[in-house]
Amino acid sequence: MADDRYTKGSDNGPLRLALYEQWKSRCYRCSRPIDLIDIQIDHIIPASSSAPRIAELQAAGDLPAGFDLNSCENLAPICGRCNREKSGHIFESPRLGYVLEQAREFGPKVRRRVAAFHAATELEAHLLGVTYASFNEESSRALVREHGEIVVQRIALVDESLADYFSVYEVDSISDQGPPTFSIPINTRGRTAVTLLEDLLYTQLDDAFADGMDDLITHTLELISEELQAIDVPTGYLTVGEPTLDVCDALFDSFEFTRTADKVWVSTAVNFVITASASVLRDADDGDGSYELQGDGVVEGSGRIVMTWPIASERHPGVGSFDIDTISCEVSTSC
Ligand SMILES: [Zn+2]
Repeated sequence: MADDRYTKGSDNGPLRLALYEQWKSRCYRCSRPIDLIDIQIDHIIPASSSAPRIAELQAAGDLPAGFDLNSCENLAPICGRCNREKSGHIFESPRLGYVLEQAREFGPKVRRRVAAFHAATELEAHLLGVTYASFNEESSRALVREHGEIVVQRIALVDESLADYFSVYEVDSISDQGPPTFSIPINTRGRTAVTLLEDLLYTQLDDAFADGMDDLITHTLELISEELQAIDVPTGYLTVGEPTLDVCDALFDSFEFTRTADKVWVSTAVNFVITASASVLRDADDGDGSYELQGDGVVEGSGRIVMTWPIASERHPGVGSFDIDTISCEVSTSC
């Protein structure tokens, strides 16, 4: 089957579903969870790119020779808003390199999923039908309300954790430097924790999350600045300006809480990718003046936001911090 490649004018249904599952139901640019019905397939390197532009990317090492723009190595799910904003613009290196590397890693899995779609049994075909159903129609919503509960119960017989599904909690960040809104997928335990915080402690997750994200972003910007300063140049010096945050993708993937007599402790695991850029002044090789470059950094890692609240009758803001488990930083400069 050739439909693991993007075909213009077709609905690319199996490919869309496979990409959606592989990229964890999120838009690859803004990381927000999106409904299958709302995603579009995006060409990471635009399909309309000219031959000289492709050659330029190949020369920069961002693309291998013979790269197929319509293969799943160049495709990712995107939300409508990002697709409108993107309009032909692509990421710059090294963020671009990171996204393409992810697409390359997902490629074989996406192909396998598309192939499995064609070999589907009757049950699989029905399940796929459900994932594709448009809930814009009232008749579909009525059917789900009528039969949904028994379907979920039956699924839980196979694997209980499937009934303990994740839903999404939107957090407005009060941090100046963080993303304005980010989403936390939470399970039943997480929903209980949110209720506990809101009802018992009269507080919102938003405050403590913003603290934790603030810590992380401050640390990341320092790291990128240090790494840029450490770049070896044959002669003279690099002067690195203040880095500014470009993208902050934070995926929250588990949620734990403990309540003791005097406090509530909440913790969530986070995988993050943060990019920032800074202007870099480099001394000219002949020692005569300097010229300006753009410095870019990508920081990837994992960690945990830990929050504690004393149990008191008065509203308490709680304290959140970010504990890093792993972190890596890659920087580059370009003209
Ligand atoms: Zn998006």
